[in-house]
Amino acid sequence: MLLDRLRKIVQDVDSAPNFTSALDTMVTSVRETMGTEVCSVYLVDDKSNRYFLMATEGLNPESIGTVSLAMNEGLVGLCGQREEPINLDNASAHPKYHYLPETGEEKYNSFLGVPIMHRRKILGVLVVQQRDKRKFDESEEAFLVTLSAQLSGVVAHAKAIGAFDALRAAPRANSTRIFQGISGATGIALGRAIVMYPPADIDSVPDRVAEDTEAEVAILQSALESVRAEMRLLDKKMTGAMLTEERALFDAYLRMLDDDALGAEIEERIHAGNWAQGALREVIEDHMQAFAAMEDPYLRERMADVRDIGLRILAAMQNQEDSGLREFPDHSILIGEEISTAMLVEAPLEKIAGIVTVEGAANSHMAIVARALGIPTVLGVSDLPVTQLDDTEMIVDAYQGRIYVQPSRQLRSRYKDIIKEEQQLVAGLDAYRDVPAITPDGHRVALYVNTGLMADVARAKDRGAEGVGLYRSEIPFMLRERFPGEEEQRGIYRQQLEAFAPRPVTMRTLDIGGDKDLPYFPIEEDNPFLGWRGIRITLDHPEIFMVQIRAMLKAAIGLDNLQILLPMISSVFEVEEALHLIHRAVMEVQEEEGVPINMPRIGVMVEVPATVFQIADMVQLVDFVSVGSNDLTQYMLAVDRNNARVADIYTPYHPSVLRALQIVVDEVHKAGKPVGICGEMAGDPGTALLLMAMGFDSLSMSASNLLKVRKAICNVPLMQARGLLEQVTQVDNAAVIKSLVEFELEDLGLLDLIRPKKSS
Ligand code: PEP
Ligand code: MG
Repeated sequence: MLLDRLRKIVQDVDSAPNFTSALDTMVTSVRETMGTEVCSVYLVDDKSNRYFLMATEGLNPESIGTVSLAMNEGLVGLCGQREEPINLDNASAHPKYHYLPETGEEKYNSFLGVPIMHRRKILGVLVVQQRDKRKFDESEEAFLVTLSAQLSGVVAHAKAIGAFDALRAAPRANSTRIFQGISGATGIALGRAIVMYPPADIDSVPDRVAEDTEAEVAILQSALESVRAEMRLLDKKMTGAMLTEERALFDAYLRMLDDDALGAEIEERIHAGNWAQGALREVIEDHMQAFAAMEDPYLRERMADVRDIGLRILAAMQNQEDSGLREFPDHSILIGEEISTAMLVEAPLEKIAGIVTVEGAANSHMAIVARALGIPTVLGVSDLPVTQLDDTEMIVDAYQGRIYVQPSRQLRSRYKDIIKEEQQLVAGLDAYRDVPAITPDGHRVALYVNTGLMADVARAKDRGAEGVGLYRSEIPFMLRERFPGEEEQRGIYRQQLEAFAPRPVTMRTLDIGGDKDLPYFPIEEDNPFLGWRGIRITLDHPEIFMVQIRAMLKAAIGLDNLQILLPMISSVFEVEEALHLIHRAVMEVQEEEGVPINMPRIGVMVEVPATVFQIADMVQLVDFVSVGSNDLTQYMLAVDRNNARVADIYTPYHPSVLRALQIVVDEVHKAGKPVGICGEMAGDPGTALLLMAMGFDSLSMSASNLLKVRKAICNVPLMQARGLLEQVTQVDNAAVIKSLVEFELEDLGLLDLIRPKKSS
């Protein structure tokens, strides 16, 4: 019962037309549900750093927006400072009580305050008060805590888009809005936003000014007509298979599609200035909200129908427009709820200055590709109002994971300076193009590159990569509409192998599953990262595995620089199985081609914690080992690498991760074989120094980090890096370890390798 009320309040607040009415709804419903005399919301104003009373039921309404408290003042301040509920039966007796005469609160004795937290930050305090001297009971406290947690997103969003400022004072025209996310690929971009959305995803269709209203109306009409035709066809098909009353659904759909119904509403919005797809989204959203507010379960069911019909109309509109062909101006900043690797690489890359997404985290696949392409990227900006930002000017500061929307002139010029400084740094790095990575005390580390696209190859060679440490073979698979055949694959692999010969190219076998789905091989699982992934899929489908291995072997004929890497290994048996298939493929190709085929060097990836402890057994079977620290970190810490909410605890500086890496290096070296690392930590100058000190023979990274890491290695003696490693192994805290490494870089004058001076 209480749960229903809770859901209803959250829904009402969510569907309020603006922030003021959302707050009002919040206090009214809470007061009513809990049967208290007062409910109020105090929110933190970041400029004055004070709590302001922003909504109340029960206190003097005139004090709204005017009464305020310092951050450490009163019971509200105490609640915020302690970040926990404060529940008192006699508030005025508490030493922290601060009487606010304007509110008329003196009559109320009992007080229950609950902090409103978002991402560990205090946004405000939700308070209920009552005349009776009584402590609120446990279930009341739990109710308010639950509600506050659910509503914190609404408050965070409103604050982020400036709705809170708008309430407190008249909005300043064109003021800069700031959003915080997580850095996916470092750098700075200045440009205009282009909203990206997957086809037929109605929620993320942006508003856009209709350039030609008549043309938009025509698009609407023809979309309506084609969906009507679709419905009639379905109806006919189902005659006999469905009861007449079940088929009434199609009638209902047809009625909704009528020119006077949804059609008229959408047309009205087009005449008001939105383009057809945006107008459709607005109308469907309105209907959704109206339905969501209904208590009748039958009517609420109809919500799904309206949504479905909206999607059908959208698909019909998009078919006509082929929105994939939109124009990208120079310095485009791609923004979206989620941008897939495929969406990114289909865009004209030379025009893309930056990427910003609501979902995702630093080691999601798209971020890795963006890093390889050197595009500044910020992910996990949970409160970004994507649909409102099409064609808006913005700055992406991917060093700090921050976005500035409609930046002021001063901000723009400050960032232009930073960009200039970065270019100078890049120019300074040029000196490291042709020198080997050797420390001042003579220790050599091989620097390899991670590739996936052909675009990576030129950049890698230009920066003196000594080979490919990780070719992500799934990337070309992701860009196609079906599995590429053996000959097609051979062609793709040949390009990579030829570009680097005689230097080694390490080709990883197909690593799909987890966050890497092929559009033509969808995998639906509750826990995809713990599911059917990497070698597990290819061993279940030897036909896919064999085609790939044969294509690799054929591509390497005459070059002999192929190495094969097995992803997601968690048992010795998997290595044996894979080796068995590879041996078979070697025999087959030899027979077919009539030329001798050497068995390529085979490596195992260490990505699963189980492998760390069995690596001594596995390394006996293979020629080398490569650590995939992105997944190893995710699995060791039980932190999803794509989940923005836990991104701050995903860190390779975790002492357990560092210890695991040292175990792997020592075990592989005991067997006399080489060990490398190809996760993102190899490409960070700070972590790269620690890896070198641990004894990794090679580091493989995206081309954009190659020169920075080489500069770090050329300037830091191995003895000093070992000293640093020694020091950090004494520390039990990831954040402290990270700071120690940064201090060391600062001492060495190398801090600009990880962030430009001015933006810090
Ligand atoms: C890794 O897990 O570290 C790795 C290199 O593989 P991917 O990022 O492609 O999963
Ligand atoms: Mg991996």
